[in-house]
Amino acid sequence: MTVAYTIGQSLYLNITNRCTNNCVFCIRRTKEGVGYDLWLSREPNLQELLEAVGDPGRYKEVVFCGYGEPLIRLELVIAAAAEFKKLGAKQIRINTNGQANIIHQRNVVPELAGLVDVISISLNAQNAGAYAELSQPVKYSPEEAYSAVLEFARQCKKYIPRVVLSVVNWPGVDIEACRKIAEELEVEFRVREFYGNG
Ligand code: SF4
Repeated sequence: MTVAYTIGQSLYLNITNRCTNNCVFCIRRTKEGVGYDLWLSREPNLQELLEAVGDPGRYKEVVFCGYGEPLIRLELVIAAAAEFKKLGAKQIRINTNGQANIIHQRNVVPELAGLVDVISISLNAQNAGAYAELSQPVKYSPEEAYSAVLEFARQCKKYIPRVVLSVVNWPGVDIEACRKIAEELEVEFRVREFYGNG
């Protein structure tokens, strides 16, 4: 079971395979993924996660990511991030689909303040219609999910030092319209290349 894996100088944490989306470009749909088998037979607990990480200060950053949406396991993320900070982690990042506030039915962002240095939110699309096609939310309507992502980004801007909205370079993604959304929210913008082999 691969709970922690390195890419470059970053340590990535795989804490769940659950997600509230089913994106057309999800790496879970590719044959090789990121080069590690990230399918979990069960989700790791806090102790297992801490053991898998060891000394977090050895890495440029520790990233909650995985084959799934890490903030589905909000309590674990908060507890682990607090431990990593105590142990000298240089930077903590979360890669998220931005739906945590509807998943948990409250604004969870203040709970991440002081623990998370960077949050990378998958915007994925320029409007709810495109989001329906590209991200295929499985639990919420595309309108509900997409507006939740935008509101989540607004909240993150208040509490987290670096906020990045990301899109994948994929047919149907209007990159310039997405860039404008990021500008309006006054957050960073990043275009990711798809590198799965299908
Ligand atoms: S939000 Fe991320 S983990 Fe979830 S389906 Fe989309 S790409 Fe995959």
